[in-house]
Amino acid sequence: MPSIQQLPPHVADLIAAGEVVERPASVVKELVENAVDAGASAVVVELRRGGMGLIRVTDNGCGIAPEELPTAFLRHATSKLRGPGDLGKIGTLGFRGEALAAISAVSRVEIQTRRRGDGTGAALRLEGGVPGKVEAAGTPEGTTILVRDLFYNTPARLKFMKKDSAETAAAAGLMQHLALSHPGISFKFLKDGAEALHTPGDGRLDSAVYAALGRDFARSLLPVKGGGEGVSVSGFITRPLQGRGSRSMQTFFVNGRFIKSQLLTAALEEGYRNQLMKGRFPGCVLAVTLPVTGVDVNVHPAKTQVKFAQEKAVFDAVYHTVLDALAERGGPVPPAPADPGKTVNPRGDFFQSMDAAAYRQREAAKPSAPPPGTPLPSWNTERTGPRLSDSVPPLREGPGRKPPFPPLRRDAPDSVLGRPPERAEPPQPAAKAPAQREAVPPPAAQTRPPVPAIPRQTAELWGQEALEPPREAPWRIAGEVLRTYIICESEEGCVWLVDKHAAHERVNFDRLKAALEPPMRQALLTPAAVELGKEDGALLLENLSLLEDFGFSCEDFGGGTVLVREVPADLDAGDVTATLEEIAGNLRSGRSPAERREALLHTMACKAAIKGGWKSGPEELRALVGKVQSGEIRYCPHGRPVAVKLTRYELEKMFKRA
Ligand code: ADP
Ligand code: MG
Repeated sequence: MPSIQQLPPHVADLIAAGEVVERPASVVKELVENAVDAGASAVVVELRRGGMGLIRVTDNGCGIAPEELPTAFLRHATSKLRGPGDLGKIGTLGFRGEALAAISAVSRVEIQTRRRGDGTGAALRLEGGVPGKVEAAGTPEGTTILVRDLFYNTPARLKFMKKDSAETAAAAGLMQHLALSHPGISFKFLKDGAEALHTPGDGRLDSAVYAALGRDFARSLLPVKGGGEGVSVSGFITRPLQGRGSRSMQTFFVNGRFIKSQLLTAALEEGYRNQLMKGRFPGCVLAVTLPVTGVDVNVHPAKTQVKFAQEKAVFDAVYHTVLDALAERGGPVPPAPADPGKTVNPRGDFFQSMDAAAYRQREAAKPSAPPPGTPLPSWNTERTGPRLSDSVPPLREGPGRKPPFPPLRRDAPDSVLGRPPERAEPPQPAAKAPAQREAVPPPAAQTRPPVPAIPRQTAELWGQEALEPPREAPWRIAGEVLRTYIICESEEGCVWLVDKHAAHERVNFDRLKAALEPPMRQALLTPAAVELGKEDGALLLENLSLLEDFGFSCEDFGGGTVLVREVPADLDAGDVTATLEEIAGNLRSGRSPAERREALLHTMACKAAIKGGWKSGPEELRALVGKVQSGEIRYCPHGRPVAVKLTRYELEKMFKRA
């Protein structure tokens, strides 16, 4: 190994700079935070080529004295901290004294500044951290910093920079957060000369939300205010019915600093418990304020994480604030999918209202009750709702039954599905002891004619089919339960339960994956303006051609809003916003183009699938069952099985017959 030597200062500086200045957006963040700390009431940020060309930040804050200008660019030089004691009570956004040093170490910087009340200002240029001479300059009160040629002297970092648009998007997201956390400051953000954000700075959070996150999102919000134990919480949360497709619209501030916090997310979401539909997330703009001594901000170089001294107090304050606001003004809770247990049973038999508990009670009261602890079959002990036997007539056929002929089977099984109440079978004591079951007359025979046997010749008339090798008869679809699972019976006497959503998702996934052409599209009658926020919006716009491949036709509507003209034909129009939000999430997390495409496949396959809880037509069920039976689909794209099988033997064991 080579000998150990202390690194020369400029190499050490470059290494340290890498921690603070990861990308153009980090430069924007540090410079804007300085402007906020300087007491500015207006901040303008300009970006050229995603910040790789130029970043200019102008503020009307307190300015820097000419003689202090070179010092500001030294490492660990700050006006915000004096001694170790101050670290425990930080009230400014900056405090590490590293940003200007780090930024100037990896770029060419120019600064012009004039203190309030001073007659003239000063200017200084630095290249790779090396300062030139401080010169007098006629400049307005406040500070302007220009950063050019970022990472020009660190080729390793330069290589990892994303496309300009991704950097612009990251900077835009950051500006959004800064603007929301400081409604009293007017923020303007220009990308390549075009205004992308402008907040009024009138001190009202709702104005900032409206300007930064868009009108639709602003309208979906409820104001909240609350707190306890030294923690106060205020801001806005989305109404339960306006849940989002991802967590991207959750914005938290602690003492004016935008942070990411699992604790706060958990507290917020706990407040919505059971009020949001599955897969939906609340959005919020929540400011948490507590004494500076109750929070440690010095846990991460980018200062986006904090530690709370009293985690429970903070959790409770957010949770109760959200809970109270929702209880008071949350509006209607989204309708739950129809509870099959509440479905009226026209037969009026006891299955209608009997749940497992009531059943056990009733049985226990009988003299012939089974000994306590006798287990009931696991599939219906816990759930309320109709018994399996409610919709499935007892098996009609003995072991020697001939398989029904395929083409004529269509109406027989399907007619059980979506059966109108009037056509219901007469009462079926299907829960009777197994020994008595065979004695029950076949109910189907009473309501519809038996399927006639097909003479062999007729089959031969159909030509080709008769010549094909004998195929397994299609499974009989006995019914659908819980509006989620299709129950089938196979020729060899097995019962199959098919998860219709999982199965359909798989079918969609395979179809999308194999498609050489974009899917069918539907043009929206009126194009939908979908507000996604600056960052998500930019991400989508950057991937327009990928979206095209999946059947979306979108364009930029400005300010983080995407105008959607066409969507895939099998996407529910009401699902467009949630789908695009989810897609933006996919795009954010996928690293390579292949990964992003795969993630999109998953989202689209899922969104276009029939959902558990929806009523499905017989043809849909038949098509899915066919694919399961042929073995074409076995697992959903997430790896869960689409069907489970119960053999006759397993059933007999459950009923203690075997
Ligand atoms: P920190 O913000 O952590 O103190 P920086 O390196 O970002 O460290 O800045 C160093 C110092 O330069 C600050 O403490 C502040 O006094 C001064 N400074 C930086 N930017 C500005 C600005 N826009 N207006 C006034 N003073 C500034
Ligand atoms: Mg700073």
